[in-house]
Amino acid sequence: ITLATVRPETKFGDTAIAVHPDDKRYKKYIGKELKVKTVLGTRTIKVIADKEVDPDFGTGAVKVTPAHDANDFAMWERHKKEIPGPLQVIGLDGRLNENTGPYEGMKVTEAREKVAEDMQAKGLIEKIDENYEHAVALCYKCNAVIEPMLMKQWFVKTKPLAKAAIKAVKEKKTTILPKNYEKVYFHWMENIRDWNISRQNWWGISIPAWICEDCPKEEWIVTDGKKPTSCVKCKGKNLKQDEDVFDTWFSSGQWPFATLRFPNHKDYKTFYPTDVMETAADILFFWVARMMMLSLYQTKKVPFKYVYLHGLVRDKDRQKMSKSKGNVIDPLGVIDTYGTDALRIALTIGNMPGRDTAISEDKIRGYRNFVNKLWNISRFVLLETKDFNEKKRPTLSLKDKAILKEFEKIAKKTTKALDEFRFSHAAEDLYHYIWHTYADKVIESSKPVLKDAKTRQARQYVLVKVLADSLKLLHPFMPFITEEIYQQLPLQKKQTTLMIESWPK
Ligand SMILES: [Zn+2]
Ligand SMILES: [Zn+2]
Repeated sequence: ITLATVRPETKFGDTAIAVHPDDKRYKKYIGKELKVKTVLGTRTIKVIADKEVDPDFGTGAVKVTPAHDANDFAMWERHKKEIPGPLQVIGLDGRLNENTGPYEGMKVTEAREKVAEDMQAKGLIEKIDENYEHAVALCYKCNAVIEPMLMKQWFVKTKPLAKAAIKAVKEKKTTILPKNYEKVYFHWMENIRDWNISRQNWWGISIPAWICEDCPKEEWIVTDGKKPTSCVKCKGKNLKQDEDVFDTWFSSGQWPFATLRFPNHKDYKTFYPTDVMETAADILFFWVARMMMLSLYQTKKVPFKYVYLHGLVRDKDRQKMSKSKGNVIDPLGVIDTYGTDALRIALTIGNMPGRDTAISEDKIRGYRNFVNKLWNISRFVLLETKDFNEKKRPTLSLKDKAILKEFEKIAKKTTKALDEFRFSHAAEDLYHYIWHTYADKVIESSKPVLKDAKTRQARQYVLVKVLADSLKLLHPFMPFITEEIYQQLPLQKKQTTLMIESWPK
């Protein structure tokens, strides 16, 4: 049997040869112990059959190295009864260890060359393919090749947690928006694997687990954070805390109830579960799913009623913004130039849940013009209502009533859109109403009406009423300019701030 490998230096850790069960070439070997020649002399190795082996890949026979390859580890787990367990041949120092004979102490890359050379000298190599390319995992920070290795870690058994989290969404206790992400959520949750929550980092929340240094067998004591006084097994006092820290998602997954001081604080009792969790679609699994699982486990209640997912903000050509491409729009710089309100509404309009949105300086400039428009309209209304007396109830003309009626429709539409999380539609409808109806039609047609003393008072009432209510509707999108104008409106009863005004009906 000829094996293909890119990692000859891990051969010392091989515990089996695997072939596909239906591969005619190898059927006769399945289950047999074969004597094979190696650089360290002759040894025996068993041939196993596994459906995961691709008969068309390489020679169709692969070495199984469970200590240094995740797929091989899974293969060993499926064949535990037939083959020996993982044999580690590379140490944490990145060098070959005592299980590799003369290669002990060599770095991985060094050993790879040397083992191949020695195999060649012994006539154990059939062919070297210099053009073969394969993918290796690299460290996301330093680009070093990642060496798979077996280490003891803490895991959370996720299946039962996921089951409850699936049920909660199926029963609509939590709704994920946009809806198509519920499918993604279910898919993840149904295929979830146990969660490795320990990390070998310097900074993080310490794992509250202590090992007894007196017990002959590995004895761990896990607490809620306090150091235990003695070992539960031997009563010994030589306890050493685990040096690992928690995966950051393990703590942020507890954010919904931990920040509200579960279980007794009044914040928890008042605000849990929260109404809406707003976050990026790409952390649906890392964060939202974990919050669902851990919150349900701890509080028996869902952490939020709605999850609203936003996409990424991309540049005008829909490219992802990155420093290296130089296409990043700095929000603070844009705010200095165009104002916060212009940026906020530019980010809202055209932005659909879960989908990436494009933003350009042109778009922000366009909404800066809208902010200016609103300001100019308000100047006009304020100037024309200096003599407005709110206490006198005017008799409204048919035209006055029609203006109010039309605005009422917009207010209802906006409220409905907000209730349905269609923020873009809400903002866009308001934008069009203010610009094309209120400014272009209502104000223009009001100019002669205001000149006539008989109709002036009623029209003042209409203009102020519609402007005041428009400001309330626009406030979530453009909080600064709306507040500024609101404070200047000729109204008797005003709140200290617009945000506590009642919503227009
Ligand atoms: Zn690194
Ligand atoms: Zn002990």
